[in-house]
Amino acid sequence: MKNKVSIQRCSANDDLQSVDRALKKSLGLIGALDNSLYSGKKILIKPNILKGASYKSGATTNPFMIESLIRFLKSFDCTITIAEGAVVGYDTMEALTACGIDKISNRYGTGLVDLKKDRFIEKEVPGGKELESLKIPVTVLDSDFLINMSVLKTHDSFPATLGLKNIKGVISEHDKKRFHNSELAQCIVDLNKVVRTDLSIIDGTVGMEGIGPLYGEPVDLKTIICSFDLIAADLIASRVMGLDPYSIKYIKLAIEQGISSIKEEDIDVVGYTVDEVKRDFKVIDLKSSACSQYLIDIMGEGACSGCLHTLESFLYKTGRNKDLDRLKGSTFILGKRNFSKDISGNKIIKFGKCAKDSYPEKGCYIKGCPPHMDTIREVLGIKK
Ligand code: SF4
Repeated sequence: MKNKVSIQRCSANDDLQSVDRALKKSLGLIGALDNSLYSGKKILIKPNILKGASYKSGATTNPFMIESLIRFLKSFDCTITIAEGAVVGYDTMEALTACGIDKISNRYGTGLVDLKKDRFIEKEVPGGKELESLKIPVTVLDSDFLINMSVLKTHDSFPATLGLKNIKGVISEHDKKRFHNSELAQCIVDLNKVVRTDLSIIDGTVGMEGIGPLYGEPVDLKTIICSFDLIAADLIASRVMGLDPYSIKYIKLAIEQGISSIKEEDIDVVGYTVDEVKRDFKVIDLKSSACSQYLIDIMGEGACSGCLHTLESFLYKTGRNKDLDRLKGSTFILGKRNFSKDISGNKIIKFGKCAKDSYPEKGCYIKGCPPHMDTIREVLGIKK
């Protein structure tokens, strides 16, 4: 069953019965209805709740999917915990509450853990290429069966974010920042050598295209992808999005480093075919679209997602308000790297605490980790 990837469709993405039917069918097709998989085990559900954004935007896991999975698991004698760590600078519990996950947890009596506040234990990374060791939350280490519920969506640094990338949510804020100061794709792969997914469920009930993973446009695909093999699921999910999985660096590295032994040609797609559900997701690189028009440069290598996503959101909203002209010729500097490029002709904007000491004496500084939207607008004189 390891080489099976199921694709199913639900008739509505906001109806529990419909999601229930599709999820159960999808699990059944890969042989994931078996009592022995769950009984007597501590099951951990890792959704994708980066911040308090509605699933209707395509940014977060559909709560109907989470509820449906819990209803299914409740028929077995197992303990269930939902665990998440929001992106840098965001409060996990606020995000889970805003997405209705706390109510689901209360209704079904599951555990609900903010991984950022968990106790961490240092673990060696077997075969680590970028990282020798990593701190992993006790809740993750204590679990017997990890269900990874990512969302089918595009990503600013990679063309897509799927199951492998979703595991990054378990690490501490400190390590999330460290990942962005290192080779991010390799760090994601190293992390997945320590934290192993037992079942991958990719939520494509509402996906996201454009400026993912937070500020793109929703895609009402009503599709669910399941597999016991994390990489097989990511490979097929990329194809569903019309993307070449080998152009997604962390998938390519994970395959090369043997995280999964399954080759794409050996994957048995069951249920719907890729072609039946395929939708070409738009991938937008803000730097080469809105920014190139206004000669806005972003020097953000090494910045973590907190700053990158905040800046993206700011530029996106400012563009929508037709106000980007005011930032013409600006260079945003993010993260801690030492930049030596000559940008003396540009208006320098040091964005976030890490960039404070770059280009001393030059430009303006927007404080915060990451900066707050009101602070950015105030410093740059941009209307709401
Ligand atoms: S200032 Fe920005 S790049 Fe630096 S740690 Fe905070 S969020 Fe990350």
